[in-house]
Amino acid sequence: MSFDVDLFVIGGGSGGVRAARIAATHGAKVMLAEEYRMGGTCVIRGCVPKKLMVYASQYHEHFEDAAGFGWTVGPARFDWPTFMAAKDKEIDRLEGIYGANLTKAGVEITAQRATVAGPNSVRLADGRTVSAWHILVATGARPSTDDVLPGRELAISSNEVFHLPEQPKRIVIAGGGYIAVEFAGVFAGLGSEVTLVYRGEKILRGFDEDLRDHLMAEYAKKGIRLVMNETFTGITRTEAGLTVAFRNGHLPIEADQVLMAIGRKPNTAGLGLEAVGVALGPDGQIIVDEESRTSVASIHAVGDVTDRVNLTPVAIREGHAFADTVFGGKRWIPDHAVIPTAVFSEPEIGTVGLSEEQARLSGCALDIYKATFRPMKHTISGRDTRMLMKLVVDGETDRVLGVHICGPDAGEMIQLAGIAVKMGATKADFDATMAVHPTAAEELVTMRTPTERHPKAIVAGAPRLP
Ligand SMILES: Cc1cc2nc3c(=O)[nH]c(=O)nc-3n(C[C@H](O)[C@H](O)[C@H](O)COP(=O)(O)OP(=O)(O)OC[C@H]3O[C@@H](n4cnc5c(N)ncnc54)[C@H](O)[C@@H]3O)c2cc1C
Repeated sequence: MSFDVDLFVIGGGSGGVRAARIAATHGAKVMLAEEYRMGGTCVIRGCVPKKLMVYASQYHEHFEDAAGFGWTVGPARFDWPTFMAAKDKEIDRLEGIYGANLTKAGVEITAQRATVAGPNSVRLADGRTVSAWHILVATGARPSTDDVLPGRELAISSNEVFHLPEQPKRIVIAGGGYIAVEFAGVFAGLGSEVTLVYRGEKILRGFDEDLRDHLMAEYAKKGIRLVMNETFTGITRTEAGLTVAFRNGHLPIEADQVLMAIGRKPNTAGLGLEAVGVALGPDGQIIVDEESRTSVASIHAVGDVTDRVNLTPVAIREGHAFADTVFGGKRWIPDHAVIPTAVFSEPEIGTVGLSEEQARLSGCALDIYKATFRPMKHTISGRDTRMLMKLVVDGETDRVLGVHICGPDAGEMIQLAGIAVKMGATKADFDATMAVHPTAAEELVTMRTPTERHPKAIVAGAPRLP
C-alpha cells in the first residue's frame, strides 16, 4: 500500500520538530503541521522567553549589589516595551531557525491545524486529507483553566504573560508549581508587587521539603507575599483594576493582572483520537508504551501530550528515539529515570534524583548532608540571602540518591551533578573529587559529616531505588 508520506507529524514543538528532522535524515518523506508558531511552547511561550524574562529581572539586584563593591550606579529604570521588543525579536529569530532547519532536512511544513482522520490518515484545516504510513502526535499541552471561577475571563495564563503591553505594577499569581513560582520571581525582580496564592501549604509540591522551605523564606525576604492554603472565589473588575476575593478568609487583593498558573492539560481535545481507537488517560493524555506507541500501531505520541515528564529535553529525546527506532533501524528507549531539572526562581533551584521524603519512603538507611551559607558575593554586597546544598545518600551502599541546590547558578550546577548521580556515583566518589575553590559548588564535595542519619526501616509497598 502506498501513502502520500512516510510520516506525518502533528505539532511543531520540541518533540515534533526533532522527530520530523531525524526521520527525514533517515530518508523518510515527512510532512509536519503546526497551527500556531514553529518551535512550540518552549521557544514561543515557555522556556526561552521565560528565561529571557528571568535575566531581565535579575539586573535590579545586580545594580544594588554593585554598590558594596565600590560601584556607583545611576538611577536604574526598566523599560518594559524595550525589553519585550528585544525578546520578541529573539523569539522570531529562533522560530525562523526551526522552520529553516526542517526545510533543509527535507520536511514539508504546513502552517495549519491537523487532526487524525484514521489510523493512516490526517485531515488538514484547508480540507485536504494526507495519507501517512505513520502518524506522530506531538501537540503538547495548554494552560489549565478554572472553568467555574467567576471572572476567570479577566485573568491571563502563561500564554498571554509574554505579550502584556505594559508591566503590571501589582500582580496576583495563582499556583504553586514551577511556572507560578518562576513568574513570581520575575515580576518581583522587575519591581512589581507580587502575591503568590496557592491552595496547598507550600509551593513546589514534590520537591525536597528543604528546598521548598528555603525558597519560601527567600521569596518572603524579597517581599513576595505568599498566601498559602487559599483559593480564589472570584475576580472582578473595579475602577482600581482587578480585585481577587478568597475562600479561606484572606482579605480581597487588588491587582493590575491576575495570572493563573494552575497546571497544564494535554492537547488532545478535538484531535479525532478517540474515534480511531487511541486510548486516552483521565486527563486526556495519550497512553503510550516505552516506544511511544499508542494503542493504534501506526500512531505514536511524544512530549507533553503523553504527560510523562513534561520538559523540553524529554520531549526531544522521545521524538529522537521514535524516529531512530521507526525510520533509522536503531531501536532505543528514552530513559525517564533520574532527570536533572531547574526552577528558574530567584534564587534558582537545581535538583536531581530523590528528595529526602521520596528516599525515606523506600525504607533504606539514609545519610543526609546539608549546608546553608551566604554566597561569597553577598558577604560584600550585604544582600540577605542564603544558599542551600543537600545530598541524600543511601546509608548502606553510599550511593548518592539525590542532590538539591537552591542558590545562584543551581541550574548550571545540577546539569553536571546529574551526570554523577545518573552514573551511580557514591558519596566516596564525591569526596574523592577535588574541590574547585572558591566556588559555591565545592560544598558538594566537602560536606563530610551527615547532618542527619535515618536507620533502615521496613515500609510496606516501598518503591525500588533507581
Ligand atoms: C511558561 C513555561 C515555561 C517552561 N519552562 C521550561 C523550562 O525551563 N525547561 C523545560 O525543560 N521545560 C519548560 N517548559 C515545558 C516545555 O515547554 C514543554 O515540556 C515542551 O515544550 C514540550 O514539547 P512538546 O513537543 O511536547 O509540545 P509543544 O512544545 O507544546 O509543541 C506542541 C505544538 O503543537 C501545536 N499543535 C497543537 N495542536 C495542533 C494541531 N491539531 N495541529 C497542528 N499543530 C498543533 C502547538 O501549537 C505547539 O506548537 C515550560 C513550559 C511553559 C508553559
